[in-house]
Amino acid sequence: MFDSGKQYPDTWYAATSRDRQTERAPLPGDRDVDVLVVGAGFSGLYTAHNLADKGQSVAVIEASRVGWAASGRCGGQIILGLSCDMGPIEAALGRDGAREVWDLLRWAGGEIRHKIQRHAIDCELADGFLWTSILWQRIKLLCDWQEEAARHYGYDKLQFLTRRELPDHVGSERYVAGLIDPEGGHLHPLKYILGLAAALEAKGVPIYENTRALSYRDHGDGCTVETEHGVIRCRKLVLAANAYIDKLDPTLHRRVMPVGTYMIATEPLPVSLARQLLPSNMAVCDNQFVLDYFRLTADNTLLFGGKCTYSGRTPANLTESMRADMLRVFPQLKGTRISHTWGGHIDITVNRTPDLGQRGNVYWAQGFSGHGVVPTCAAGKVLADAILGEDHLLRQFMRLSNPAFPGGDLLRVPLQAGGMFYYRLRDYAIPGISF
Ligand SMILES: Cc1cc2nc3c(=O)[nH]c(=O)nc-3n(C[C@H](O)[C@H](O)[C@H](O)COP(=O)(O)OP(=O)(O)OC[C@H]3O[C@@H](n4cnc5c(N)ncnc54)[C@H](O)[C@@H]3O)c2cc1C
Repeated sequence: MFDSGKQYPDTWYAATSRDRQTERAPLPGDRDVDVLVVGAGFSGLYTAHNLADKGQSVAVIEASRVGWAASGRCGGQIILGLSCDMGPIEAALGRDGAREVWDLLRWAGGEIRHKIQRHAIDCELADGFLWTSILWQRIKLLCDWQEEAARHYGYDKLQFLTRRELPDHVGSERYVAGLIDPEGGHLHPLKYILGLAAALEAKGVPIYENTRALSYRDHGDGCTVETEHGVIRCRKLVLAANAYIDKLDPTLHRRVMPVGTYMIATEPLPVSLARQLLPSNMAVCDNQFVLDYFRLTADNTLLFGGKCTYSGRTPANLTESMRADMLRVFPQLKGTRISHTWGGHIDITVNRTPDLGQRGNVYWAQGFSGHGVVPTCAAGKVLADAILGEDHLLRQFMRLSNPAFPGGDLLRVPLQAGGMFYYRLRDYAIPGISF
């Protein structure tokens, strides 16, 4: 089900970045490195960048192509914070610990811009992110976060929008309030990650594509990794395989559940229509449990994402049902053609907290739960620092509880789908029922 394809899936991103998709050779045979990174998504490449900057000899192996999975096909929305919000972090680490994590995430939001600038990556970066609320009763979540961010996290840049103020940012009747984060934003994720990969190679780090890690062994003084094309011996091993970890590490696999989420791209819109939909060109996400997220691209294509599935099967009539979701937000797009439809896997954890850790010589980052553009950059720093001997932040993340999903391989999907159904019910305002 999670076998990686040898080529990029047919996404709008792949179609608009063909000139940059240099194919990289597989591993040519056995080799030795200080650190081997498995997975060329954001997590793997950020970790490799940080280690290479500190003089480590690093190699990256990728089962498919750079950015083939979530990183190269996601919404590209730069969202400060975590999928779980700060509540579970504060509960586990206390206020000071949570503040450290928040400061790290803010640093990561800035570091993305810094990397784009430093490596001159042309990836359509735009500033500004808008949370919206569909339900009146969820406006409170926006207000609470605005207040908490200022009071506990020293972040006073969030701007609350009433319903009357929303049309300056989103041309939809669906929302009743909003919260702007000027440090959020959006970018073309595949162009960005291909730029990160080229910059990494310029630092002398090889990236071997179409080279799957089949198994590994930690023998105390280092690890041996068996791949499709040879054996790599390394002092430290980083697993950044996200929803695809599977049999490579069954213990880690049990802690994440792959969930499908989907996107469509419209044909490029006339400028006047694009400006009517999203006048301030921000990325937008609502605060439902199963949420819609959307934004414009540099050529005025609307990218619209949403839905989630657990079965691993693509939903029937996906384009039509995604179009229906989009028209619920923007009925103005009734006659607009859809050019691309695609999906990808996010890796959710039981509590939606990221799962970063270490066991012997093996380090990992996974479980970003659908909200990884900024947190993967933070994770890359945390893992690299720990490998270099500064492991305070990694220890903090390891205090978050990320248990295995109950039910084993057979039952965890139906159990989780049942749990999700409960949360989905909460996405509807049902008169007389409160959750
Ligand atoms: C449709 C979609 C929309 C999203 N939208 C957003 C968004 O707008 N904002 C946001 O913050 N987050 C979003 N996310 C989540 C975000 O994209 C992810 O959290 C993030 O990209 C995860 O990065 P990663 O490097 O951990 O994993 P991935 O990008 O999935 O990379 C893992 C890599 O490891 C490779 N791999 C796996 N196993 C092996 C092996 N055995 N050997 C070698 N290589 C292996 C895979 O082929 C893959 O390339 C979205 C995700 C999806 C799917």
